[in-house]
Amino acid sequence: MSALNTAFADLKTTPRMPTLFVGHGNPMNAIEDNAYSRSWNKLGQSLPTPSAILCVSAHWMTRGTTLVNVKAKPETIHDFGGFPQKLFEQQYPAPGAPDFALATLDLLRDRHAESSEEWGLDHGAWSVLIKMFPKADIAVYQLSLDLTKSPQEHFEIAKDLKALREKGVLIIGSGNVVHNLMALAPGAKPYDWAEGFDSFVAEAVERRDFTAIANANGLGQLTRAAHPTPEHFLPLLYTLGVADKDEKITSFNATFDMASISMRSFLFS
Ligand code: ZN
Repeated sequence: MSALNTAFADLKTTPRMPTLFVGHGNPMNAIEDNAYSRSWNKLGQSLPTPSAILCVSAHWMTRGTTLVNVKAKPETIHDFGGFPQKLFEQQYPAPGAPDFALATLDLLRDRHAESSEEWGLDHGAWSVLIKMFPKADIAVYQLSLDLTKSPQEHFEIAKDLKALREKGVLIIGSGNVVHNLMALAPGAKPYDWAEGFDSFVAEAVERRDFTAIANANGLGQLTRAAHPTPEHFLPLLYTLGVADKDEKITSFNATFDMASISMRSFLFS
């Protein structure tokens, strides 16, 4: 076996870990006690303890390369503005997972992925994990979204990551099924196009047609309204790419925040 293959082979094999897509929405969920944050906390208590967590967050975007964070001590990144000081004071001091990150690079050796120490944990990761695993005692690492790649290519990259589930890795895609910040309307009922895209995703997941979701650009205007930019949509393709069609699927937090953010989330187990 080549040295390149060793990092993955060296990881202990475990029962298959569940995988998650989490709609993270407003960063304030990190410090608020609300229906979303309570569901994350409850879920964290019911999941098997992962050996490590791989988070594919909407908020780490790269161009022309897929980066994997190999840092041993990833810092908490407060990648937002205009929020209360209390949110900026939050820290999520989980260790990094260099061994798992190198194993991930093994699996992506044909995908031009590279190791990186330029990132820490962005709020797509920590705002959820601070509620889900509040002790911050499970190693966490992130993989970036290469925005030069098509949704179908992201879906294919994800399939290469599936084997990590047999190594105790909890793979979490963190984005939103619908995410249009320009249309935010606090207190209003969801837009028709928002409900339309949300239903399209819910129904395609229900019938296990993950490819239809990877091909959502074919829906044209509906997808452009739900996702004026793709970064909150793409993490879903990572969860679907590592999921198996025979798994139990649980949908949760299937409501809208501020009319244009779907918080719909999925657990595959
Ligand atoms: Zn976000």
